[in-house]
Amino acid sequence: MNILILGSGGREHALAWAIKQNPKCDRLIVAPGNAGIAMLAECADLDPCDGPAVVTFAEANAVDFVVIGPEAPLAAGVADDLRGAGILCFGPSAKAAQLEASKSFTKEICDASGAPTAAYAHFTEADAAKAYIEEQGAPIVVKADGLAAGKGVIVAMTEADALAAIDDMFSGEFGAAGAEVVIEEFMTGEEASWFVLCDGENVLPVGTAQDHKRVGEGDTGPNTGGMGAYSPAPVMTDAVTQKAMDEIIKPTVAEMAKRGMPYQGVLYAGFMIENGQPRLVEYNARFGDPECQVLMMRLGAQALDLLLACAKGELDKAQANWANDHAMTVVLAADGYPGAYEKGSEIKGLDALPEDSFNMVFHAGTKESDGKILANGGRVLNVTARGNSLKDAQKRAYEMVDQIDWPEGFCRRDIGWRAL
Ligand code: ATP
Repeated sequence: MNILILGSGGREHALAWAIKQNPKCDRLIVAPGNAGIAMLAECADLDPCDGPAVVTFAEANAVDFVVIGPEAPLAAGVADDLRGAGILCFGPSAKAAQLEASKSFTKEICDASGAPTAAYAHFTEADAAKAYIEEQGAPIVVKADGLAAGKGVIVAMTEADALAAIDDMFSGEFGAAGAEVVIEEFMTGEEASWFVLCDGENVLPVGTAQDHKRVGEGDTGPNTGGMGAYSPAPVMTDAVTQKAMDEIIKPTVAEMAKRGMPYQGVLYAGFMIENGQPRLVEYNARFGDPECQVLMMRLGAQALDLLLACAKGELDKAQANWANDHAMTVVLAADGYPGAYEKGSEIKGLDALPEDSFNMVFHAGTKESDGKILANGGRVLNVTARGNSLKDAQKRAYEMVDQIDWPEGFCRRDIGWRAL
């Protein structure tokens, strides 16, 4: 079959890598793709958020199945456009993707389904929000309601910081995302993520993971898109996953179906776990980046069968076969990231690295020029390895990192420290 993946990051490289290994895949196109993706698939110059253009492209290229990587096309309704044109598609409708695109919507779903989460209040007006903060005290969490590329959440340890966050959000800095805020109880515990495929009715877990959001070793410094991840997450024990399934995931999926917006795609649930009890921090409507890289490394070619079963509403007949293994990805970023950084420096040494089911360098932000691989973003490479233990996966990943010759880049040397 002919398959189109929308997106251009390490997540989409990992999806392409896994899907390409499945014999069902005849032709693989990624739009817009990157230099690493171009080594295994055709790249097409197409705006992933332009639904009508994606439909026209898919029809012109006899595409049988579209996999949507990032959140922006989902929120823009590209999955709706594709389904409306009769094209099989992996990714939720714009209505269902509100689980990521609107924090107040998710809170409402938690209320209606009884899913454990932080206590909260929702405001559209700064004075009322400030009065609530003064009444509740700190620590407290202030969130812009809409999509803010991971920058719309302020975990305020003092009341003054929380009040300042309200001023920032209502200042217009966050655009429409900040015109509404959710203020939440501060939760303590350990964070982990769970990725569950949903076909509107049935659910199938495809792995747990933990990531490192802070730029500095020991989880210090500013927040980033993620500096590394590993799977599985030891804190997601059988007892915790069972509770998360029964108390959070299944009630959410049932509530969405009841509201006439069945959730079809991957539900990425972020939990705070304390004393064996998971509480929902957030939902995302797509795979995490870089968590997708470790999940695809562990799933391999069967990923395509699972995504297809999800899109066709046949998850009740699907099964994920896990090797009892571990995977880790280490992000190489450009010096200066997550602040200002330069593009265009050359990355050498990639050709000599192994590329197999245990070792893979996924490209997140690269471009090719005159046969050279150049850095073209903040997060640039995802060095990913599988092993019999997390320690083994970590050792392999850093062995590869050490062979990459890129003086203008850096990585954290402690990915996985919490689990190890
Ligand atoms: P992203 O999608 O980039 O993870 P986001 O903007 O969707 O972020 P959240 O995931 O809701 O925002 O929050 C970001 C981080 O803030 C969480 O991973 C968690 O560390 C912290 N956080 C969010 N809500 C709470 C809470 N109620 N208590 C404590 N920490 C929280």
